[in-house]
Amino acid sequence: MPDAMNILLLGGTGEAMALARALACDPRFAPVLSLAGRTQNPAPPPIPWRRGGFGGAAGLAAFLAAHQIAAVIDATHPFARQISANAQAATAETGVALLTLTRPPWLAQPGARWTIVPDLAAAARALGKTPRRVFLTIGRQDLLPFRAAPWHHYLIRSVDPPDPAWLPPICEILSARGPFSQESERALLTARKIEVLVSKNSGGAMQAKLDAAHALAIPVVMVARPEPAPGTMVTTEIAAAIAWLTRLHDAKRGV
Ligand code: NAP
Repeated sequence: MPDAMNILLLGGTGEAMALARALACDPRFAPVLSLAGRTQNPAPPPIPWRRGGFGGAAGLAAFLAAHQIAAVIDATHPFARQISANAQAATAETGVALLTLTRPPWLAQPGARWTIVPDLAAAARALGKTPRRVFLTIGRQDLLPFRAAPWHHYLIRSVDPPDPAWLPPICEILSARGPFSQESERALLTARKIEVLVSKNSGGAMQAKLDAAHALAIPVVMVARPEPAPGTMVTTEIAAAIAWLTRLHDAKRGV
């Protein structure tokens, strides 16, 4: 479509895939989805896609210019700080419009036993000095801080196998891809005699583990998500992202 507006969709999340599906059949837009390439077998996206880093903010700015990108949607994970910072810098440099699409954070239910910590090192410290059976549901890239608390027993759930160099000494790996039901999460927490759950506040569909922990009165160490950079335009709704793209598209065509 010669008139179509070129869009870069920074992905690696369910939200990015949902937006990609919504844009796939819209002739006003020519989106390309970008994946970091961390997941070994990603589900095939419904729009053109690429994988791998751009080479920092400068590389991303060069990509935007080379592909005449008119809008960037940053639908990366709320904890993927570097790519979001790069998107801010590259769009500021090139004058390309930027919108962040993210999922709302989880909120503690009344009576839930959450300890909220600022980062993963603080999460490891919050587990305390007494050995505990810990369920780590933080992904495989963020395990290193838990080597500083080697006296706990860790059950680590991850889609792809973690690098052995990042593992704490006493651990078991559970390879699984969500979403999970509350029943299966309760069964897992009970069968593995879990005493504390560690999670990042990613938000989204993986809430069943928190509901199961709440039902079983298991405490949760919750890593707070980083704040978006000041001035970032953020939405949690696919429809709002499409409305934003539509306004840009119409403005470019002088509608
Ligand atoms: P990060 O620390 O913010 O990014 C590290 C580098 O990876 C970036 O500087 C960039 O390399 C490259 N990169 C990241 N996302 C990219 C994308 N969508 N397309 C192309 N290059 C990308 O990111 P991360 O925390 O490692 O996460 C990597 C990916 O996994 C993200 O796309 C994110 O959405 C997804 N993810 C992350 C988490 C999490 O907890 N962090 C959880 C689930 C999914 P260059 O500087 O070379 O461009």
